[in-house]
Amino acid sequence: MKALSEFELIDRFFRRPPRRALLGVGDDAALIAPRRRHELAVAVDMLVVGRHFFADVEPEALGHKTLAVNLSDMAAMGATPRWALLAGALPEADPAWLAAFARGFFALADAFEVDLIGGDTTRGPLNLCVTILGEVPAGQALLRKGARPGEAIYVSGELGNAALALAHHRGRIALAADDLARCDAALLRPMPRVALGEQLRGQASAAIDISDGLVGDLDHILEASGVGATIEIARLPRSSALEHVLAGGERALALDCLLAGGDDYELCFTAPADADLEPLAQQLDLRLTRIGTIERRAGLVVHDEHGRALEKLPAAFDHFSE
Ligand code: ADP
Ligand code: MG
Repeated sequence: MKALSEFELIDRFFRRPPRRALLGVGDDAALIAPRRRHELAVAVDMLVVGRHFFADVEPEALGHKTLAVNLSDMAAMGATPRWALLAGALPEADPAWLAAFARGFFALADAFEVDLIGGDTTRGPLNLCVTILGEVPAGQALLRKGARPGEAIYVSGELGNAALALAHHRGRIALAADDLARCDAALLRPMPRVALGEQLRGQASAAIDISDGLVGDLDHILEASGVGATIEIARLPRSSALEHVLAGGERALALDCLLAGGDDYELCFTAPADADLEPLAQQLDLRLTRIGTIERRAGLVVHDEHGRALEKLPAAFDHFSE
């Protein structure tokens, strides 16, 4: 069989007519025009084999996750994702692998009406990099700064499931089959909270997506806003899988996953103490849990189930401090 050339590969797997771009894949650059009175939100995220995913990960799940982590950044800004560019290094041009990757990528792109408008393709150790562009009404983006003392802190969904799946795959714990399925779904196919981000415009005072763990990511909000916070472990939203690990004696690991597990891709945000977010949670069919309060004093205090402050907080994930 003749090997796929670079351009055959792009044409066959990645070239599709754009819906919202003036010019998509196939020229030296794409052309886009944001709507009037909107700003462009732009972010890039890279996924490296052995670091962000296992080499033998299902390509369809990888296609999903490659785009999902970028959509999550748009959600955290309250932006509507519109256009993506995909730069990839591939060890080989394997049509079956590429077809599955593209299926996962475009299923999510279609669900959010995002156009793939360009990219770059080269041979090399598997590495995927997506640049995402979104639109947000001028002046309404959700920033990390903006949290004020007295405000409530919320998170969406459940925390720690992806980290639990990783702990299982690394042999640290053994999850039951149904718990593993739930946690694997969180690890392999995170659902970016785009609709939540859009709805929080004008409601949330600050927001971030939880990619490196709650404690570290909340700390970014605190730093940017020049405030502190208190959160309650008892309030942190968790799955039955995580409850099982807590009850099964692996308390330290369960707490680590809840407080500092990476790859959740939920939103953490702040809002006035008297805001009622229940209608929004109902509308989106998504848990929105109040986990604590913004404080005037600096630093993050985490209360255990007895209201005692933890002496040591688990460290946030950092690629360069392991
Ligand atoms: P250039 O030589 O200008 O860098 P390329 O030959 O790399 O252009 O790419 C040709 C076209 O294909 C460009 O429009 C580019 O954006 C697009 N492209 C390349 N790789 C990908 C990819 N993986 N996904 C989507 N579009 C791609
Ligand atoms: Mg190129």
